[in-house]
Amino acid sequence: MRIKLHNLIFIGMIGGLLIGLGLWAIKRSPDETYQAVYTHALWWLDLFGPTVFMGALKMIIAPLILASIVSGVTSLPDMKELGAIGWKTLAYYFCTTTIAVIIGLVFVLTIQPGKRAASVEVRNRRVAELDERRQAYQETTGQPALSADDRPNTAYLVWLAEQEGVEHTGGTEADRYEKLAGARGRTAGDIFKDDIVRPLLMNPFQSLSASPPNSLGIIFFSLLLGIACMVVGKRAALVVSFFQGLNAVIMQVTRWLMSVAPFAIGCIMAGLVARNGPEIFQTLGWYCGAVLGGILVHVCILVAIARVIGGVTPLRLFRGIREAYMIAFTTRSSAATLPVTIANTTEKLNVSPKVANFSLPLGATMNMDGTALYEGVAVIFLIQLYGGLDDVSITMTAMTTLLIFITAVLASVGAAAVPDAGLVTMVLVASAVHLPIYYIPLIFAVDAFLDMFRTSTNVLGDTVGAIVVNRLERSRLGAPALDTAPGR
Ligand code: ASP
Repeated sequence: MRIKLHNLIFIGMIGGLLIGLGLWAIKRSPDETYQAVYTHALWWLDLFGPTVFMGALKMIIAPLILASIVSGVTSLPDMKELGAIGWKTLAYYFCTTTIAVIIGLVFVLTIQPGKRAASVEVRNRRVAELDERRQAYQETTGQPALSADDRPNTAYLVWLAEQEGVEHTGGTEADRYEKLAGARGRTAGDIFKDDIVRPLLMNPFQSLSASPPNSLGIIFFSLLLGIACMVVGKRAALVVSFFQGLNAVIMQVTRWLMSVAPFAIGCIMAGLVARNGPEIFQTLGWYCGAVLGGILVHVCILVAIARVIGGVTPLRLFRGIREAYMIAFTTRSSAATLPVTIANTTEKLNVSPKVANFSLPLGATMNMDGTALYEGVAVIFLIQLYGGLDDVSITMTAMTTLLIFITAVLASVGAAAVPDAGLVTMVLVASAVHLPIYYIPLIFAVDAFLDMFRTSTNVLGDTVGAIVVNRLERSRLGAPALDTAPGR
């Protein structure tokens, strides 16, 4: 009997989880032989999982986005159809992302993870740390840290920020902290110019070869190419058939890659669990609970949208995208999952490739419901936890909530579809409410774990978007054109 691919992937995940737990236990042993086993095992797991499998998926993303958008656009009957699909897709993205952030805010404001017993301990530790810092400042500079009305002096705050920066960049989380620090101090205008306008107009060859690829630039260029092909008409037939052929070929490569997915996904899972273990959840349990609770409600809403507007039952939806879902869960990258999302959506959910090839690459780049929800919860959690300390003068008011709401939506649009991206764009949300970024590292420990859930929700959101637009446009698109589905 042949075991189905999605079952094999599931078995791979469970196997990886168990191996990871075993390795995590070994890591804690003082015996050097065990330590060596742990290090070796992790090396091999990293080789097969992130390096080979994710590397191969990433290898095909750039040409895939290019080919799928050009072939998607050129397979549409006319520009009117492209306009209709485009607007509906963007309107759907905007509505669902807004819903996601609102759900996150409701959860974090009602659960109050930052006020729970375990969090109070974390806060008390920070209060003691700040007492020491104040004393150190007074001793080194001879100046008082607090002014007469007990408010921290500006010079002290600047000194404090520098101290925190030095400390975090020397630690094990140096890489992520540097990414955060690099994003600090940028205004919304800088972000618009550097992260939107510049990438949009980048030389396409540079966009394709950048690491990670410049998805925004590729999408824009492909749209332009596709539209120009439609306008030129017959003379562009060769170009159109080249991109349609390329699209089919890349989907075939995706199918080959999928056959090794169960093993590779087991390796990624084992590596993650072996590194992090279950103990990190003790202090951040309530915070994780708020994020996961919000995500669960949002998933239910997406499923309901798929049922009511898209006409797809929950069972059919999950059966249709379970492979993409599990791959998103383990790779933590919507971009790496994109080839599988397109294959699942067109082949199993019967979404017309005309819609899927256009809306899914766009969604993977800019529609991130899980990320948007998470950003709001994370920043409010940190404010609940540290609000009122020397360097965190914010309190939760209606204005703060509104600012967090707006910036969380923007930050999710700006986040790259790669692991940890949400953590980096969170700087935008934190800076908007003047939360010092050196408080963000507290949540590093559970970020990889939460990234699994938010990435799979991102992918689910994109898929439901394609289903909805496909349904709304079905009269104009006609029945799903299976003969033009990629790879067929
Ligand atoms: N990893 C997420 C994605 O690829 C982005 C994030 O970090 O939230 O969709």
